[in-house]
Amino acid sequence: MSILEIRDLQVAVEDKEILRGVNLTVKSGQTHAIMGPNGSGKSTLAYAIAGHPKYTITGGQVLLDGADLLDMSVDERARAGLFLAMQYPVEVPGVSVSNFLRSAVTSVRGEAPKLREFAKDLKGGMDALSIDPAFAQRNLNEGFSGGEKKRHEILQMELLKPKIAVLDETDSGLDVDALRVVSEGINRFRASGETGVLLITHYTRILRYVQPDFVHVFAGGRIVEEGGPELAEKLEAEGYEQYTKATA
Ligand code: ADP
Ligand code: MG
Ligand code: MG
Repeated sequence: MSILEIRDLQVAVEDKEILRGVNLTVKSGQTHAIMGPNGSGKSTLAYAIAGHPKYTITGGQVLLDGADLLDMSVDERARAGLFLAMQYPVEVPGVSVSNFLRSAVTSVRGEAPKLREFAKDLKGGMDALSIDPAFAQRNLNEGFSGGEKKRHEILQMELLKPKIAVLDETDSGLDVDALRVVSEGINRFRASGETGVLLITHYTRILRYVQPDFVHVFAGGRIVEEGGPELAEKLEAEGYEQYTKATA
């Protein structure tokens, strides 16, 4: 049983205050959706938890099983059991997907997985996500389509088996097939009950496939409303206007 506690988190970017006191608790087995209009600070939350250098923590705490993530390097956060989808967004010429994933698993576990075991896990994960076997030999992120990036992200998550996964949907276009495959991947993964998922999204559509247990609405850098899955349906029908008016 793991627990991520975000306490009164305040974050600035280039001296501009973006997050203004965020409180959120995610336990293993739970899926929380963070929804909100563009510019409300959703990705800032993800980057701050990830330890992106551009995002300055000006107050608050982020604890994973009681340990302060904000004191840790990015690698230490991953070893502590945190998974952040946008952690390795760069193109890496000459590093194949397969090599990258094996070194990611090695880094998180502190020892290299046995080649045969890793090959089996990799193949299983790729099959489940309908990823072409040739994908494993491609260079990391080089020319990946939106759908390939997302599948790779979920594949990483399945191999790393984190305690808490933070997925920023980045609002980029996934076609319906990719959306379904990615959603099924998340569902398969969370079915173990051992991982807590924080799913950040602007759109309600992924929530048709991945039912959240809790929905939090972000506006103006803080949580302005919380509820169960019914809140996502309300947002789908009514949009965010009511919240953006209130915080403008
Ligand atoms: P969301 O993900 O909800 O669309 P973001 O967290 O991306 O919102 O952005 C929140 C606010 O912070 C916006 O006003 C955005 O312009 C600003 N911001 C975020 N990241 C940066 C950055 N790296 N440099 C400058 N401003 C940023
Ligand atoms: Mg945005
Ligand atoms: Mg965003």
